[in-house]
Amino acid sequence: MATLPLPAIHASHGGCWLRDAIGVTRGIGKGEAIMAAADTPLLMLNAPLVATRLGYPDLSGLDLLELYAFIHPARFVVPTPKGLANALGLPEPQGDDQVPALLQDAAAALLDTCESPDWAEREGAWSALQSLVRMRWPWAAQLTPRIAQPERAERWLFSKLPEWDDAPERPQPAQVALDGNEVLARLTALTGETAEQRPGQRAYAEEVAFAFSPRKREAAPHVLLAQAGTGIGKTLGYLAPASVWSQESGGTVWVSTFTKALQRQLRRESRRAWPGERADGSQPVVVRKGRENYLCLLNLEDALQGGFNGRAAILAQLVARWAGFTQDGDMIGGDLPGWLGTLFRQRGITSLTDRRGECVYAGCPHFRKCFIERAARASAQADLVIANHALVMVNAARGRDHAARPTRLIFDEGHHVFEAADSTFAAALTGAETIELRRWVLGPERGSKGRRRGLSARLGDISSYDEQGAKAIAAAAHAAEALPGDGWLQRLGEGAPSGPLEELFAAVRGLVYARDESGGQEAGYGLETEAAQLDGAFIERAQAAGSALAELRQPLIRLGLRLEALLEEPPDWLDGPGRMRIEGARHSLAWRIDLLSAWEALLERLGGAADPEFVDWLAVERSDAREFDIGLHRRWLDPMKPFARVVLEPSHGVMLTSATLKDAADWDTAVTRSGAPYIGVAPRLSAFDSPFDYASQAEVLIVTDVPKGDIPALAAAYGRLIESAGGGVLGLFTAIRRLRAVYGRIADRLARAGLPLFAQHVDPIDTGTLVDIFRDDPRASLLGTDALRDGVDVPGHSLRLVVMEQVPWPKPSILHRARRLAGGGSAHDDRIIRARLAQAFGRLIRSRGDRGHFVVLSSAFPSRLLSAFPAGTPVRRLTLDEALQRVAGGVSDDAVNIDTSPAKPA
Ligand code: SF4
Repeated sequence: MATLPLPAIHASHGGCWLRDAIGVTRGIGKGEAIMAAADTPLLMLNAPLVATRLGYPDLSGLDLLELYAFIHPARFVVPTPKGLANALGLPEPQGDDQVPALLQDAAAALLDTCESPDWAEREGAWSALQSLVRMRWPWAAQLTPRIAQPERAERWLFSKLPEWDDAPERPQPAQVALDGNEVLARLTALTGETAEQRPGQRAYAEEVAFAFSPRKREAAPHVLLAQAGTGIGKTLGYLAPASVWSQESGGTVWVSTFTKALQRQLRRESRRAWPGERADGSQPVVVRKGRENYLCLLNLEDALQGGFNGRAAILAQLVARWAGFTQDGDMIGGDLPGWLGTLFRQRGITSLTDRRGECVYAGCPHFRKCFIERAARASAQADLVIANHALVMVNAARGRDHAARPTRLIFDEGHHVFEAADSTFAAALTGAETIELRRWVLGPERGSKGRRRGLSARLGDISSYDEQGAKAIAAAAHAAEALPGDGWLQRLGEGAPSGPLEELFAAVRGLVYARDESGGQEAGYGLETEAAQLDGAFIERAQAAGSALAELRQPLIRLGLRLEALLEEPPDWLDGPGRMRIEGARHSLAWRIDLLSAWEALLERLGGAADPEFVDWLAVERSDAREFDIGLHRRWLDPMKPFARVVLEPSHGVMLTSATLKDAADWDTAVTRSGAPYIGVAPRLSAFDSPFDYASQAEVLIVTDVPKGDIPALAAAYGRLIESAGGGVLGLFTAIRRLRAVYGRIADRLARAGLPLFAQHVDPIDTGTLVDIFRDDPRASLLGTDALRDGVDVPGHSLRLVVMEQVPWPKPSILHRARRLAGGGSAHDDRIIRARLAQAFGRLIRSRGDRGHFVVLSSAFPSRLLSAFPAGTPVRRLTLDEALQRVAGGVSDDAVNIDTSPAKPA
């Protein structure tokens, strides 16, 4: 392998290094680095990140990640110098100054691959390259001499992808009662005969079998709440009874998770219980996500044929390369690298999905190859479906196929079911939501490119053959003109709203700014006010907006009825695909009609008596003081009420399981939060303690001398803790502003000490990739907010210290205030905080060999919150200096002297 004669640059917080074409590396300043990059295309890794480090946003060059995505689509790599070296079998660089040489070697290795007869992802590369040459992709010139034109013309992606097959409906599952011995025997088979027997896991598996017993009463499922401490081995613990049940009954078990990390783990572990494929080629285990996660082939085709320009067009080519090799077409959290979208710094990825529900179903030329349709069909035939909470709820609330709804459900990460239900059953009448509806009816506004089309084009045959249908479509199109259009936010800012909805949003905006006292105005955060004490002028605007929405809902209802009639008595012109298209359209119409009804109900309530079941408020959403949405919001005071009706009631067996389901010894909240009382079911309760020895594996350190609100002191504390631990720190924040301030103060210094620091909301890298980077480098540390509090599963040495910047108090929003009032005041807050602490602590000890410290920087940490930590965990209140000593010394087996001293006044 010859080194590539191209200069390479590397920039970290510790400095910049440039290696010239003849192989001399030297440290340079940022200014020189920017000049060098402007002068000639430089090899670099992750151009947006290099640009951020140099403080020069317009940087471009030969990005090795783009080359990797072209040569090895759908293949995992951690996008760091070390990760790239490992993926390509090159020696890891031993310092920043060695990185440019690695980049040259990596480029040469990747380009050599193209000339190798063993290149696994050759198919389609030559054709894609021809398009990329026309687009002047920087790598095209390097690749052209190395990729030979194939002797036979390559098949186009869309003809190459396999078609799904229709399968007969499965009969309903047999009624079986699971035998405990059989469940245990299956568990032994899954864990391996030679594996150490874990009594907690065995007891858990036997208990889970209860959820699969035959139901005794209609609308009364078996509900099991099972708290399983970290390390019980709950995944295999429930997969054992689930696999026995599906085998004996012929039915499907759904396991729902909140995080993608657990989905990946489940996919891996399920291979112990089920083969990858059945004898007939079908899949016994299917991962199912919401349709907005999958690549829409029609959107991709459009993008490849001129719908995308410039850099976005290059992204489309790289996505097309991936589409030829992906396992399931999942673009968000599947095998499309999470970093690919951020390399192109725009919303290219989401516009290749079917986010707006514009699918034309059987009217689409790729319908029989569509990844979404394939996943939906496969899940109907599967023994195990791995899904997420949001999808399970949306599917239950407005799924197309009632027969395919889950009836045996395991909600892992069950402590998140409440918040998933909260957003699923919410209503938001905002500018962003209404403009989406307008586009769904009318298509994009003039000047927009692409195939996105309105209702009339999607139902072209109805428009031309059916008079009543055509009239309804025309009336809907006319009514949709009243909804906000492009530029609505700007018009509101200029005081020139157009149409009844924009008028209403302008009034919302005015009122929110007039009343907000949250302090968010200066901080640049979102603002809100109660939907109460609204004056006559506001109510009039709300009524006008409500009438406009009703004007739209009426023709949509008429159209829905017309479509139903056409299906019942099909006319001559309606062929098979047309019928399927109408069925699809009917479903998406019903969803929009429900949406409009919910909005109208929200508006009707304004000015009247408050409905105690709901919490309503007005909000201006902002990020860094920039407004991005305005409108009215409605949440259920308790979203478990609709959850119970929509998800629990039709089920036969449901389990909620988690390491943090209940609050210390108290089950009451977990029972209430399961929703079971709403359907008159008393859940079965069981708890299984973690087998970990927390007394010797972990220590909680409450640091009492970092003053609250003192950013320099907070940053210094983080910097010193990271230095003492030698990296491996997960830093958790409750406010992005403080996270950025701390990061800005310490990142350079730590980098110079060889301790890389990464941060959510700062680095242009998606969260999943940030966790991959953190896991891969034991000297790296990661700062983040809520998503990292329980989305991180990093066992071993890479995570040895968790630092929370303060007690994680809930944000005092209007919604929180209402729930606090209903939930017992400060006791409600305490439950939330304890749950957050328990989740964050749960990141630390993931296996028997893990050891680590959990630090909270809080001068006044109330003792009543200490029960958040597992029993036996030593807790110390100390100064920062003392904490640094303990962190530097590590957690040792002989940790004694447990100090749970009484709290200082909060
Ligand atoms: S069937 Fe729908 S989602 Fe699938 S490719 Fe066609 S338009 Fe896209």
